[in-house]
This record gives sequence, C-alpha cells and structure tokens, in this order.
Amino acid sequence: MSKTEFKIEGEEQTVRLGTLMSDLCVPYAVKNSKSVLIFLEGDLGAGKTTFSRGFIEGCGYKDIVRSPTYTLVEPYDFDNYSIYHFDLYRLLDPEELEYMGIRDYFERTSVCLIEWPDKANGLLPEADIRIALSYSQNSRTVVIESSVLSQDELDRIASC
Ligand code: ADP
Ligand code: MG
Repeated sequence: MSKTEFKIEGEEQTVRLGTLMSDLCVPYAVKNSKSVLIFLEGDLGAGKTTFSRGFIEGCGYKDIVRSPTYTLVEPYDFDNYSIYHFDLYRLLDPEELEYMGIRDYFERTSVCLIEWPDKANGLLPEADIRIALSYSQNSRTVVIESSVLSQDELDRIASC
C-alpha cells in the first residue's frame, strides 16, 4: 500500500490533482481491462466534486461536469473506457445500489469515482485508491492511499 499526504491551495489545484490522477488511472484501467475504484472521502465542500471535474476534463470531456447528487451516477463514455461518477450522499437505502445494477459498473473497463462511499454500508468492493480531502479555509489537506499506484507515482503527484 502506498500513501502520501500534502496540501493544495485553491480550486484550480484540486482540478489539477484530478487531471493528474486521470493521467495515471485511465491507462492502468485500459491496460488491465479493469475497473479502478476511487473512493472520495471528506465533508461537504471538501472538494470531491471539484476533483472529479478535473479527472473527467482530463479525459478530454469538454462539456459541463454536473454533480450526480440527484441521479446517484453520471456516466461518461469514451472510446475504450468509461468514467462513472457516483455521489451516494442522497442514497436512502444501500439496497438501491442493487436495483441500479451497481456490480455491472465495476465489471467494465472504467474508473469509478465515488463520493460518499460510506453511505453504501459496505456494499461496495474494496477501493483501489482512497482520497481523503479535509477542509481548512483556503486550502485542503489531501491523503491518497493506493494499492495500484506505486509510491513513486504518488510522490510525483504530491510534488506537482
Ligand atoms: P464536495 O463535492 O466535496 O462537497 P465541491 O467540490 O462541490 O465539494 O466544493 C468544494 C468547494 O471548495 C468549492 O467551492 C471549491 O471552489 C473549493 N475548493 C476546492 N478545492 C479547494 C482548495 N484546494 N483550496 C480551497 N478551496 C477549494
Ligand atoms: Mg460533491
């Protein structure tokens, strides 16, 4: 398990972090034809959606990235992979995940960005990458833990 912790100041840096992570995670998902699960943890306003926007824009998406607060998931299909952006904040019953066929999303070549994974009450598989954002006025502390990225890759992200 590799791990890093660093600070980012301002919305643009959070967007940039998302883009840098997409540069690492998308090739990994495509090369291994698997789904990479990224859990995004942190309070309301910590920057989970901002990070996701950077990630999705990093894939070349030019339109507006909407928060999937009401739809639970927003899909973005590219040539040979998809990004699924989940926001489980409003999930009332974890069983809803079964109804929406959550497992299918994890069987495709994809990156799943999941805000509020705790709301799933353990119905999700283990995360490949965990990103915790914590709030302080004009900056955010980021902790990234990963079983699929090397310590070198995380150190490079931290110093960007
Ligand atoms: P969440 O999805 O976690 O609820 P959002 O991404 O919707 O949070 O909102 C985060 C808020 O914090 C936005 O207003 C954004 O401009 C701001 N923000 C994001 N990243 C940073 C940062 N690194 N430093 C300061 N403010 C940030
Ligand atoms: Mg959000």
